[in-house]
Amino acid sequence: MNCIFCKIIKGEAPCTKLYEDEKTFAFLDISPVNPGHTLVIPKEHYQDILEAPEEVLEALIRTTKKLSAAILKGTNSDGLNIAISNRKAAGQAVFHLHVHIIPRLKNDGLKLFPSKKYSNGEAGGIQKAIKKELF
Ligand code: 5GP
Ligand code: ZN
Repeated sequence: MNCIFCKIIKGEAPCTKLYEDEKTFAFLDISPVNPGHTLVIPKEHYQDILEAPEEVLEALIRTTKKLSAAILKGTNSDGLNIAISNRKAAGQAVFHLHVHIIPRLKNDGLKLFPSKKYSNGEAGGIQKAIKKELF
């Protein structure tokens, strides 16, 4: 498999590394939204959140929290966006699960997601469709 993030973990591709433990690895995104934009990844290769087992996700969120506090202080930011893109339609470009931690400043002017409005009864239909898939 030709995965750039697997190569980074193995030291076969360069990165600006911030942290590593038994299950996770964190490094600076090469094209940051704001300086300090970090990617947290599991060392095992999973494409996205749907593929990854819960214990991997637990480790991933623990490292994300640890890094969040350090990034907030270290970059003097006012807030953070934490995001995972899953599948191409959601903008995923690297198909090795990764959490973006994006430092935000009060006046950085970014708006990540435009919003829509539900039409009458639409939310109830969506609620029903999603709830029937839950188990
Ligand atoms: P996605 O759209 O898949 O959620 O985000 C992939 C992210 O990985 C992008 O923000 C991109 O800048 C970053 N990225 C892609 N290739 C590399 C790389 O080789 N090194 C680093 N540090 N970041 C990368
Ligand atoms: Zn990989």
